[in-house]
Amino acid sequence: MPVTADTLALVAAARAAVDDILDATTRTLTGAWVTAWDGLALDLLLALDELLATLAGGGWPSRARIARAARLQEALEAAARALEELTARVRSETATGARGAVQTGLSAQPGIIASQMPPGLNRAALLSQLTRWSERDLAAIVARTTERITSLTRPLSADAEAAMRRELVRGVAVGANPVDAARAMLARLEGAFNGGLTRAVTIARTEMLDAHRQAAQAGQDANASVLSGWIWSAAMARTTCPACWAMHGTVHRLEEPGPQGHPQCRCARTPAVRPWRELGIDMDDPPSVIPDAQATFRSMSRDDQLAVMGPGRLATLDRGDIAWADLAQRRDNPDWRPSYVPTPVGQLTR
Ligand SMILES: [Zn+2]
Repeated sequence: MPVTADTLALVAAARAAVDDILDATTRTLTGAWVTAWDGLALDLLLALDELLATLAGGGWPSRARIARAARLQEALEAAARALEELTARVRSETATGARGAVQTGLSAQPGIIASQMPPGLNRAALLSQLTRWSERDLAAIVARTTERITSLTRPLSADAEAAMRRELVRGVAVGANPVDAARAMLARLEGAFNGGLTRAVTIARTEMLDAHRQAAQAGQDANASVLSGWIWSAAMARTTCPACWAMHGTVHRLEEPGPQGHPQCRCARTPAVRPWRELGIDMDDPPSVIPDAQATFRSMSRDDQLAVMGPGRLATLDRGDIAWADLAQRRDNPDWRPSYVPTPVGQLTR
């Protein structure tokens, strides 16, 4: 596993390239939601004012009263149409983003593999021998991702609309000034409308990242003869979850998909070149430079350690009651792939 400093730099560069794609998609979707809401807010507010103006005291209108408020129902239908359009936008933007993420994942592999070969070898010659990615691999992964996103986003608009309607029925306190109540309700409706955005962003980011990792896998499969497996590579930052910290540096078989992290997990799949002697090169491997997760964690400030682990988990770890690997557990998910998630503190301190 002759991972070199070049390897780490290339893995970091690929991670940064994918982050840029994810952030651009997130910004575009957020902007689309803000614009759509701006187009709806005034009509909704006027409809709410109208509804509340007809009240002769006595609290929030009944469900039946809301259902009969024609102007409000029209505004809600406009919101439902806007959510449908936004869902279509999520699908197209995520497909574009996935294409970029797949391209990055495929094109990075030969360089990362070559960076683990002896320095004396002619890198350019070596790169030319490694199998490059094909347009067909790319198209296949993008197509699968697009299909998944289409199915995952299917309930999105109806659910956000239903959440808005639930807020309306639940109501807000109506005080002396009904205009204040209308504004308070508008804020609730905005929250429900933006729930669709939160969900869309999670789906988009998770699926683009998975597409990127599938591409890395395809790029590694194409050069399987020189690889012994892949290494789970976490960013090891303050925002990296305990499970990904624990999984960092673990080596997996090439056939195994992954890294199968939690939703939006940004961990990378780093190819591990076979020991040089197995490749017929009469040299010892240099020591691997993959940073050790525990040592990296212990070198962070106490504040950062707490931010990662939380107090209970960190105390258990400090006492030596658990092993580093106990921090992650594999979970099977009914509607999704399996994922490695942080072991609940309750199970650690058992
Ligand atoms: Zn992760």
